[in-house]
Amino acid sequence: MLVNMKIKCPKCRENAELTMDYSLVKCGSCDLDMSYGEYVKFIAHNESKYSDILGDYTGSTEGHTSGSLDEWD
Ligand SMILES: [Zn+2]
Repeated sequence: MLVNMKIKCPKCRENAELTMDYSLVKCGSCDLDMSYGEYVKFIAHNESKYSDILGDYTGSTEGHTSGSLDEWD
C-alpha cells in the first residue's frame, strides 16, 4: 500500500503530503493541491526570493565582514 510522504507545505508551512508516485502535493491546512512539478517551481521561486533577501543582507554587511576576515589573516 502506498503511503504519502510528509513534507512541509510551501504555502502555510504546515504538514503537507506528497503522494508516493510524486504526482501530487496536498495540504489539508490551506487546501494546497498542486502537481509535484508545480511544487518544485513554487519552492524554487520562494528559495530565490529568500536568497535575494539573504543576498541583500550579506551585501549590506560585506564591508564589515571582509574587514574582519582581513584582520584574521
Ligand atoms: Zn498548506
